[in-house]
Amino acid sequence: MTGSVPHWIDGARTTGSATRRASVFQPATGEVAREVVLADQSDVDGAVASAVKAAQDWGESSLSTRAKVMFEFRQLVKANRAELAEIITAEHGKVLSDAAGEVQRGLEVVEFACGIPHLLKGEHSEQVSRGVDAYSVRQPLGVVAGITPFNFPAMVPMWMFPLAIACGNAFILKPSERDPSTAVRLAELFQEAGLPDGVLNVLQGDAFAVNALLDHPDVAAASFVGSTPIAQHVYARGTAAGKRVQALGGAKNHMVVLPDADIDGAADAAVSAGFGSAGERCMAISVVVAVGDVADELVPAITSRMASLVTGPGTDPASQMGPLVTDVHRDRVQSYVDAGVASGATLVVDGRGYAPEGHEGGFWLAPTLFDNVDPSMSIYQDEIFGPVLCVVRVPTLDAAVRLVNANQYGNGTAIFTGDGLAAREYQRRVHVGMIGMNVPIPVPMAYYSFGGWKDSLFGDTHVHGADGVRFYTRTKAITQRWPRHHGVDLGFPTHT
Ligand code: NAD
Repeated sequence: MTGSVPHWIDGARTTGSATRRASVFQPATGEVAREVVLADQSDVDGAVASAVKAAQDWGESSLSTRAKVMFEFRQLVKANRAELAEIITAEHGKVLSDAAGEVQRGLEVVEFACGIPHLLKGEHSEQVSRGVDAYSVRQPLGVVAGITPFNFPAMVPMWMFPLAIACGNAFILKPSERDPSTAVRLAELFQEAGLPDGVLNVLQGDAFAVNALLDHPDVAAASFVGSTPIAQHVYARGTAAGKRVQALGGAKNHMVVLPDADIDGAADAAVSAGFGSAGERCMAISVVVAVGDVADELVPAITSRMASLVTGPGTDPASQMGPLVTDVHRDRVQSYVDAGVASGATLVVDGRGYAPEGHEGGFWLAPTLFDNVDPSMSIYQDEIFGPVLCVVRVPTLDAAVRLVNANQYGNGTAIFTGDGLAAREYQRRVHVGMIGMNVPIPVPMAYYSFGGWKDSLFGDTHVHGADGVRFYTRTKAITQRWPRHHGVDLGFPTHT
């Protein structure tokens, strides 16, 4: 995408009022690649008006029409996966294989949404009273907004809009202003698949657009994924305006390694889950909790694997990890490394000061490892969202459970062990939404729901799966009788 990244409103690219713009960087070079337009009130009003109009017809469309469009969209995304990955890598920085992987995980939600005729089946009870039946239906909400983070510019929007649209809603997507192009390409493909104009609008913008959508009386609900402070804000503002809101926040994911674990498997998992996508994943492992004396073997095993990791431009097939998304974010992550050193943690591998040849201007930080991290340190307390892995040593499984439960976040966690009873105990006792047993990144499949506990989620429903269908619909319970005339009866109905 060259020039300015536009909105996608009513089935067409538009720069709207374009009163403000933001720079979009190429993280591997540090150069400004293009600008993105930032919505003002008139752009928000235009996007909502288009969605309100489109929602009326789309909400009346047959389930088979919706499923058919969804199947076509699946084919088109699949056919254009490489192009989508290139767009993601150019603006986000992650390696191409990782970018293609997130498109694939998004596609799985589209595949789930293809089953919408089955997913929207209600309940039916015949003869709840003599000659009386009861049943329930799920109906769309109308216009739904989705506000998404920079770290998965394809997958996180695809957690939301395919299912919302399959449920009969119109959707306004406000992608991250740091990597805004993927959303426009996805909307174009959806149009090509037969989606009527206005059913999916992409509104580019920043906090202004988010707040205007949350305040807008014609927006019925909002799905949000991003950092915890903004999730909290979005939840409070949206619900105060009477909307249904699900707001997924940040994370600090612990990987507990018991003394009986397979050390090679655990070390591979810690390195893959800690440094994949430069640690910019909400399900990244950022803390390894080494139980007993397992750290004495585990830390050298992790360190030796880190020595062969290749950090470089995402477009280079040899690269395993790309740059961070912006210089501001890289500097913030690096400031945590400085803070970790100052607070007395053992810096085992220092990723500061690295830059691949020919790409010196990029936003680089190589994989970094701390051992002997104390839970009071900021490198443990805060979500760093970069390639910084911390090892905390604890004496027992009990202590590991207490540590995880005391943390403000509860998105994902993993336990590595061959002891099924210990794993079961851990799974039952931790206050975390998604658990892996010898699986470091336990992202649920599309037909389950994704979401954390504590400060990792504000609201009641998780995204996609059955919870997604619930979030994007509201139910009606109907009681029906087709009577012969029975006369007036003031008695309480007793269903005999
Ligand atoms: P962010 O919170 O900065 O931004 C998310 C969205 O909110 C963007 O669209 C942005 O434009 C908007 N926004 C930013 N500031 C705002 C404000 N003051 N008012 C209203 N809207 C505002 O998050 P990010 O840096 O883009 O993404 C990284 C964060 O997202 C991390 O904390 C990560 O853990 C989290 N995340 C969570 C999940 C999950 O499933 N829980 C998934 C992916 C990312």
